[in-house]
Amino acid sequence: MNKKLTIALGAALLVFSACSATPREKLQNEGKLGIIWFQNSGEYQALTHQAFNAGKKAYLENKTNGKNAVIVDLDETMVDNSPYAAWQAINGQGYSKESWDKWCEAKEAKALPGAVDFANFVANNGGEMFYISNRTSNLYEATAENLKALGFPQVDSKHLLLKENTSDKAARVNHVKDQGYKVVIMAGDNLDDFGSDLLHKSNKERVTYVNANEKKYGEQWIILPNPMYGGFESGLSPDYMKLSPKEQLKVREASLNPWSGK
Ligand SMILES: [Mg+2]
Repeated sequence: MNKKLTIALGAALLVFSACSATPREKLQNEGKLGIIWFQNSGEYQALTHQAFNAGKKAYLENKTNGKNAVIVDLDETMVDNSPYAAWQAINGQGYSKESWDKWCEAKEAKALPGAVDFANFVANNGGEMFYISNRTSNLYEATAENLKALGFPQVDSKHLLLKENTSDKAARVNHVKDQGYKVVIMAGDNLDDFGSDLLHKSNKERVTYVNANEKKYGEQWIILPNPMYGGFESGLSPDYMKLSPKEQLKVREASLNPWSGK
């Protein structure tokens, strides 16, 4: 086959495969630029350092002589699961408990830039790290081993609190407080990580909540960027997570706020 014909056929095949993508594949394709930014940009790493630098400063300013707790989420707050997201995007796969558990059990998550240093800073300055994650409790051993191998301190059954029966983190946060700790800092990549009642709320409600609490960010609450997934997506419409991929694509399109072009 001559070279021109091969190129033309290749291009036609690409166009055909783009047109024939299933709604699920289209959804996953839309996520690629966010994953690329997360995995490749200096800006992302600068933001994680900015978050943890602010966290250290705020911790020193607000810690007490008593029991100090720093409560952090794990996924995309302390550790990087972007290879799982990239696998989903390349293979047109949605989230599934089966594939997620397999990824977690592989213990291949890396630490986010600055995260291990931040956690050890807290541990070396009179604080205790509490890792409150919605990884399910069957993933406890794998998660603990992964965290320990990365150098995170205080990884034990007192400090690593995974999901037993509810995604709402409030009960686990209260469990820490009930033991006499002052929660000096909380860190997360999702507004739901801060013990607030925002689970399954709309983005309008989430934005209102953020603005009502604007002074806490960088002081008591440290937020990490995550463009790959999160409450912002389910907050696009009621029952978003129950919609078909085709309907989800429509909701996403409708949520764009465009310039008129005139
Ligand atoms: Mg997270």
